[in-house]
Amino acid sequence: MPKYYLTTAIDYSNGDPHLGHALEKVGADCIARYRRLRGDDVHFLMGMDEHAQAVLQAAEQHELSPQAWVDRMAETFAGYWRRLECSNDAWIRTTEPRHHRSVTALLERIAAQNPDDLFVGEYEGLYCVGCEEFKQPAQIVNGRCIEHPTLELVPTKERNHFFRLTRYRDQLLALIRSGELRVEPGIRRNEVVRLLEDGLQDISISRNRQSWGIPFPGDPDQTVYVWFDALINYLSATGYPDPGYERLWPADLHVIGKGITRFHCIIWPAMLLSAELALPREVWAHGYVQWEGAKMSKSAGTAVSLDEAIERHGPDALRYFLLREVGFEADGNFTWERFEDRYTADLADGLGNLASRSLAMLARYRDGAVPAALEETSLDRAGADACAAYARAMDSLDLRGGADAAWGLVATANLYIQQVAPWALAKADRQPELDAALAALARALYRLAVLASPFIPGKAQLLWQSLGLQWEGLAGAWATLERPAVEGLATTKPEVLFPKPASV
Ligand SMILES: [Zn+2]
Repeated sequence: MPKYYLTTAIDYSNGDPHLGHALEKVGADCIARYRRLRGDDVHFLMGMDEHAQAVLQAAEQHELSPQAWVDRMAETFAGYWRRLECSNDAWIRTTEPRHHRSVTALLERIAAQNPDDLFVGEYEGLYCVGCEEFKQPAQIVNGRCIEHPTLELVPTKERNHFFRLTRYRDQLLALIRSGELRVEPGIRRNEVVRLLEDGLQDISISRNRQSWGIPFPGDPDQTVYVWFDALINYLSATGYPDPGYERLWPADLHVIGKGITRFHCIIWPAMLLSAELALPREVWAHGYVQWEGAKMSKSAGTAVSLDEAIERHGPDALRYFLLREVGFEADGNFTWERFEDRYTADLADGLGNLASRSLAMLARYRDGAVPAALEETSLDRAGADACAAYARAMDSLDLRGGADAAWGLVATANLYIQQVAPWALAKADRQPELDAALAALARALYRLAVLASPFIPGKAQLLWQSLGLQWEGLAGAWATLERPAVEGLATTKPEVLFPKPASV
């Protein structure tokens, strides 16, 4: 079984998660579920970034100790990810002792392998607490950070430890251009290449006398810079530096937002090059969920409540909408109108109606038993084509393309029912043709349950079970898609998969 280790960005513990966080987690979960379908040994990591200054401020505002605050936030975030059916099998928090140990070990390894890469210097600049980063002039608009227009930049001057990032510029350019370190989608790769071409600066990797964070090895007056600390989570979750961590490392995929490519495609790989450790294979930087044209985020002051979005039509509908309509590549808009339209057209009238009509006809004409009719119909050919198109899209992390392929089959199958009109075949007593149509519909539902499962895992399970099949996480199901064996299955009419909302 090939190993597939994927990660999401770890989230700041300074406020509740919003739709922007949800898009990233649901997208990564969709990829994880797809890789499991394909038979990979998936290791899916999510977690929390807990050493930020903003965390300390949030804790103070709530009159809690920082540890009590991050404990509470970790529970809140994990609760949302469970509700959204995230199937991560690992969870890391940067306040955990195992992470602390890895950060120290990595810094000590850099000091041992490439001692010139670390040096002490003076830093003066404008610091954004939202990004936890010194800002360059190109990142400042109207005196504010581009990502955080509501926050004041903080003038900061102090003695810090530095990392010689400049030393790795040429090597990183070559690795990214050759695809040895894949940065996707291409628009993000071009941005990163441009940053590298424009030249790098060495970066400060410690802060002076901060009470909250990991002490810098050998200099306890300094705290490890929160980004340097946070990036190492991907490695510490593998057990690094203990023997055996190479079973998981290097990561196969880091899923992140487009705003933090500099950290993941430049700083993180440079840290690993300096430590002489293997690089991740791929970084995927998704776009932002926009609300009336603005980035969905707490500090930008725009947010649709994640609770409201989940409760509207349940977690599966939200997952589907985020991945099909908002998208996992460029920025996309969240609007309630489009959510309602997609829900009605694709889920209630689309997949839901297909399942309920097909299973109702199986019940009415064949007591629920799928007839043994093995001849290939036009619907079977469309099903096989959809599976191939789906795999091509999903293999290249084109999640919208994967959903398009699956829901294209939904449309074809609904049309097939109209054209073949099984009720007319029953009335005319054309039993062999009725058998063929009902079996073809059962095979289409079988394929759809599998293809839809990374997007709408809960409803896909219901559909699968209503075909009379054992769920078992769909283990082995992918290999059966070419010729689903549905003959003799005892189907049942499911509860309505996607109830029509009461008209408002
Ligand atoms: Zn910022």
